[in-house]
Amino acid sequence: MAILLAGGAGYIGTHTAVEFINAGYEVVIADNLYNSKAEAVRRVEKITGKSVPFYQIDVSDAEALRTLFSEQNIDTVVHFAGMKAVGESVAKPMMYYRNNLNTTLTLLEVMKDFDCHRFVFSSSATVYGFSNPVPLFETMPRGECTNPYGWTKWMIEQILMDACAADPELSVVLLRYFNPIGAHESGLIGEDPQGTPNNIFPYITQVAVGRRPQLTVFGNDYDTVDGTGVRDYIHVVDLAKGHVAAVPYAEKHTGAEIINLGTGRGTSVLEMIAAFERVNGVKIPYVIGARRAGDLAESYANADKAKEVLGWTAEKTIEDMCRDGYRWQTMNPMGYPEG
Ligand code: NAD
Ligand code: UDP
Repeated sequence: MAILLAGGAGYIGTHTAVEFINAGYEVVIADNLYNSKAEAVRRVEKITGKSVPFYQIDVSDAEALRTLFSEQNIDTVVHFAGMKAVGESVAKPMMYYRNNLNTTLTLLEVMKDFDCHRFVFSSSATVYGFSNPVPLFETMPRGECTNPYGWTKWMIEQILMDACAADPELSVVLLRYFNPIGAHESGLIGEDPQGTPNNIFPYITQVAVGRRPQLTVFGNDYDTVDGTGVRDYIHVVDLAKGHVAAVPYAEKHTGAEIINLGTGRGTSVLEMIAAFERVNGVKIPYVIGARRAGDLAESYANADKAKEVLGWTAEKTIEDMCRDGYRWQTMNPMGYPEG
């Protein structure tokens, strides 16, 4: 039996593939390479010494997905295949709704036809919205999202809960990621955003290797420890291991379970810059700019449920994240090569 990683050539998918293989699972990757490169899959093979079946398909293409399911013995799907750029989702909402919802619906339909009942979904802390106080608990009501990307996560969570209510065999784990950063310690796989990074960490690593002159800190007048935004950064390898922990849980339960994947600790932008400089011995020039529209002052998880339910806790520190992320960027200053 194998685990299908839909969108598995991407940042989180490649790290998760490595951790599943390390834990003894067979994995199959399906990805249309919309936001990734085939080289990333080869790097997974290099790290693990295992060959990984790779299907370059759009997972909203039901026929292509049926071919995959008929050739591979899939018993669990982990669904990463989505578009994730917040700003682009505001400019192109229909594209985001179509891609992110269709991939999910097609996967669910084809899974049912092939008697596959376990589904792990990449959700996001963004579904907590603006009104919930930190730390964020899974029991809190979902809030208002500020962009179509966030709403796709919100809507897909609803679709998955409704699908579980209608199908007693279905088991869904909704993993709400906080802020994944860093890279595999080999430096062979990591985050490779196309164009200007939207997120702070790849921006910092690109400044560190001289691809960009300086970072702009989006506001220093929030009601936080030093005025800058606070987030719950989680090492991508810890996050990947959270998926590995979710599979045995999904094997034993049915229904939809919401679980935060975070560390439970907040770090400000200035704390992150200081940690990065200290650990890596580089300077990150920055200027203070205006607040970014739609940003929260603080977002961090209560991470107790993942420990209780999955037996999983994040282990790596901000220093580990900074060190590993910088190693990836110095070894691959322009990201993965084409082809
Ligand atoms: P990523 O863009 O690196 O990976 C997503 C992968 O999905 C890419 O390889 C892309 O080519 C693929 N894909 C997109 N549409 C597809 C389609 N129709 N068919 C086949 N493949 C398709 O992003 P990531 O950071 O690895 O994120 C993975 C998932 O986790 C996404 O759903 C994202 O929304 C979610 N998430 C990410 C973060 C984060 O900060 N990185 C936070 C919360 C949630
Ligand atoms: N941020 C920043 N400069 C940047 C990008 C982000 O100061 O170039 C800040 C942002 O305001 C937030 C934190 O860094 O406080 C994390 O932002 P990111 O986009 O990485 O994650 P998200 O806001 O989606 O949680």
